[in-house]
Amino acid sequence: MSSTSTPTESSCTTVSEPCAEPSAKKAKLTTSDFEMPSIVVFVVGNQKKVLQMPRRIARESSDLIDAECKDLSDTAVYIKLYPNIPVEIFTLFLVWLSTGDLNNAEEFASHPANPSAVDLEDTSKKLNQLAQCYHLAEILIARPFQNYITDQICKYLESLVDKDDLLEKTIARNVPLVYVDGQKESKLKCLLEDAIVASTTNLTRCMPIDNPELEPMVLAFWNGVAISAIRRNKELEDGRMRFPLNWGEERRCKYHEHKNDDEIMDCRERRLEKQGRMCIDQ
Ligand SMILES: [Zn+2]
Repeated sequence: MSSTSTPTESSCTTVSEPCAEPSAKKAKLTTSDFEMPSIVVFVVGNQKKVLQMPRRIARESSDLIDAECKDLSDTAVYIKLYPNIPVEIFTLFLVWLSTGDLNNAEEFASHPANPSAVDLEDTSKKLNQLAQCYHLAEILIARPFQNYITDQICKYLESLVDKDDLLEKTIARNVPLVYVDGQKESKLKCLLEDAIVASTTNLTRCMPIDNPELEPMVLAFWNGVAISAIRRNKELEDGRMRFPLNWGEERRCKYHEHKNDDEIMDCRERRLEKQGRMCIDQ
């Protein structure tokens, strides 16, 4: 059987560095390494679970926390209340803050050992968790977390392509969550709409409206899909609009939130480096 994949040599040659990770810094320790760290206290969920995180780490990842802590003394206790965020989702954020990887979270829905046993319940739950994390990142103005989640969603949706409409149905199940705020623009919506369009050449509405309350959300979703489909012809000519979606855009990060062009350049460089490493490894 012939393969239609395109050569990727050009992207490999851009990387000349070896693929080893940078080694950890070996700085000498001082008193300050043993001082009680300033913390942020989060009171989360309807059960009011009290969680905490070193303030420095939280400030680095969240513009909201950073701004609010700016004028606080180190000894002042900073408390944030999030009664409407499920503890499970907030925990995923804290796990990511401390380890950089959601898969280290017990609560995070993992793939079943047997890939053919994946069903719509599993996939919907996983996308649901990721979308809730995305919304939390928006609330906290935590761009690194948001972009990490975006990448996870891209990767996950890609793994569902060609699996009996599982991708379309999984997205359809999560439309009420993602489109709850109707017309508000979001890169997550754009990503889901593009994923639908990129995964199929035969667009059919996979979601009947059986609940009048959901109607505006479903319509907003299909409206977005229709606009994405119109754009597709042009994008395909430029070699974009196909999986993996987040690498498709040449000059900008279509689905990422970045503060300025410098951040976009950094992100692109990191991505090319990673792609190059993958090429070398193969
Ligand atoms: Zn980016």
